[in-house]
Amino acid sequence: MSDVQTKIRIHVFHTGRVCVSPGLPFKDKEKNPHPVQLTLLSAYGRRQRIWLPVSAYLIEHPQGRLLVDTGWHREISPQGEYSRFAQIRHLGLAHFLLNQGVLPKGEALVEQLARLNIRPKDIDYVLLTHLHSDHASGLKQVKEAKHILVSEEEWQDTKAHAERYVTSMWKGVPIETFAFKETGQGPAGRSFDLFGDGSVEMIQLPGHTSGLAAVKISHGGKFVLLFSDGGYAEKSWQEMIPPGTALDEKKAYQSLQWIREMSQKEECLESLANHDMNVIPHEIVL
Ligand SMILES: [Zn+2]
Repeated sequence: MSDVQTKIRIHVFHTGRVCVSPGLPFKDKEKNPHPVQLTLLSAYGRRQRIWLPVSAYLIEHPQGRLLVDTGWHREISPQGEYSRFAQIRHLGLAHFLLNQGVLPKGEALVEQLARLNIRPKDIDYVLLTHLHSDHASGLKQVKEAKHILVSEEEWQDTKAHAERYVTSMWKGVPIETFAFKETGQGPAGRSFDLFGDGSVEMIQLPGHTSGLAAVKISHGGKFVLLFSDGGYAEKSWQEMIPPGTALDEKKAYQSLQWIREMSQKEECLESLANHDMNVIPHEIVL
């Protein structure tokens, strides 16, 4: 095998941006005492709301092509610009009030893949870190992928906490679930090894949701950690600032401690939050 085929290449894409209330990324009790769910609507929230990037990743692995999350669907911005009407149609009114997005032309995940001559049916696995709208929105655009995987716990959350999800996003999409095993990996000691060789692991990061998974990609003694919404930026684990909202705050904090531990390891090449405004699209070769 040539050198090119044995290496793992990770493409970090931005698929538009998401608008969130100021208390969401970094918990700040003094300035923003209101429940984070309401602040987007309050006068304070309207003035202060911020736009963060929405990342999705392509992993070119010797055993196949993988995507991590799907970013926004073209439907939220048919013309590439902010559209209130298109978003209400795609997200429903309740979600539109909490979580809005914009997707410039050419930035949908499938549009970026097309520039690399990759069609959705060329994708072997779509790995979903969780199913919140800004991660699952693009699902229908990649539904021809060979496998689309999410953890059993996350799938349960979409039923137990349906109000936190836009379930129409995966209507007609053949989602398969995987089971975390007791491996001792991660804050809960549970993970799923995709190829059985330790090169791609989904590691349970409970807190933000029950079934949230980080993706750890390992090769040649180094690893890259994609920690999704386990924190909103590098600053989150550097300064141990938990997000403003979590299904389980205590577990979210423990997950952040694990992210910090992993990110400080010498073998850690990069450790990336999905919505870090300091991360710019780039490629990593491992
Ligand atoms: Zn997110």
